[in-house]
Amino acid sequence: MLILVVNTGSSSLKYQLINMEDGSVSAKGLCERIGIGGHIKHTASDGRVYEADRTMTNHEQAMEAVIELLTGKEYGVISDPDEIDAIAHRVVQGAEVFPKPVILDEEKIQRIYDLGEIAPLHNYAAAQGMWACRKCFGDKPMVAVFDTSFHQTMPPKAYMYALPYEYYEKYQVRKYGAHGTSHRFVSDRVAVLENKDKKDLKIITCHLGNGCSITAIKDGKCIDTSMGFTPLDGFMMGTRSGTLDPSALTYIAEKENLSPADINNICNKKSGMLGISGVSNDNRDIGAAAAAGNERAQLATDMQRYQILKFVGQYIAAMNGVDAIAFTGGIGENDPELREYVCENLTFLGVKIDKDLNKLRGREVKISTDESGVDVFVIPTNEELAIARDTKEIVSKL
Ligand code: AMP
Repeated sequence: MLILVVNTGSSSLKYQLINMEDGSVSAKGLCERIGIGGHIKHTASDGRVYEADRTMTNHEQAMEAVIELLTGKEYGVISDPDEIDAIAHRVVQGAEVFPKPVILDEEKIQRIYDLGEIAPLHNYAAAQGMWACRKCFGDKPMVAVFDTSFHQTMPPKAYMYALPYEYYEKYQVRKYGAHGTSHRFVSDRVAVLENKDKKDLKIITCHLGNGCSITAIKDGKCIDTSMGFTPLDGFMMGTRSGTLDPSALTYIAEKENLSPADINNICNKKSGMLGISGVSNDNRDIGAAAAAGNERAQLATDMQRYQILKFVGQYIAAMNGVDAIAFTGGIGENDPELREYVCENLTFLGVKIDKDLNKLRGREVKISTDESGVDVFVIPTNEELAIARDTKEIVSKL
């Protein structure tokens, strides 16, 4: 079975064609600057690469370009679009409407679009991608897999905000979480590496990338996660503030005469590592600046590590212990110093890591020693494969 996994952003479309017999990727690529120009990079599994500027005024044109590349003589990996068995769409927000992956029809696509009200950066674009695929692929089965599904097991005491209850009833304002597909994939891997049933483990998964979230998993289920109503919540990220005192925002809004949209923009796009360092949203640039003596870059680094540690600590308390901690995402997989900082502050639990193993990059590895009181892993995430597996399961039953 061949599944095309599509991840649509407002001006981008990422894709992977996955062969479900062995999970291998036949081709993958990224269309960028859709609607404002256009650029495509496509890589076939044998190493053939196509990269060029190409005008794409909307997601439909981007999808047409992808199909052309996938089926073309020079860079293609299939001869006909019909060889693709199903299309899987990643969706950030499913709210309470979509607790599980679903087969898409027009009504469901519209419902996903409507949920854009609470995920404006993501859901509108996801629906555009679905409509584009519908035009290009006709009636081929399409499945939506939601980042929020894995977090639907949180109990109300974890997902409710202490606001007047009517806002939950009227607008479903509550914590939904994000990166659920990654937290599920990584925690499943932890159980395999531990050779135990996930139900018998207390796991903390740290997805640390440009967006970051940490999740507590007990009895095989998510019991709490750091992202909230939107992916702005939790701890500081590349450009996002994470949790802060809401009064700080109303105070700044009054002082600077800012609208709610302005505040939203500042918290989502100008804060976090970028806002504090003034250097970049990228941890590599910030690390280099800090090493060169930039104090604000060092402060951003210190704040990020401290906030991550506190979330890990919260979840250890919430689960009354922890068996395994796993790091994933661009930062989680590549920043040994951050991992060492977290682990050194957990020595009260007997956490002990092997510093040489901790330096390894880009592969699955247990970095804790055999004597460690808690197992610590680095596990490269693979959201696309998890999405494709969910899709295969649903489509196989059709
Ligand atoms: P992601 O959103 O998962 O792609 O992660 C992006 C973040 O990972 C950025 O802050 C990068 O600086 C960081 N990152 C990616 N590769 C490396 C690396 N080799 N060393 C340190 N940080 C990295």
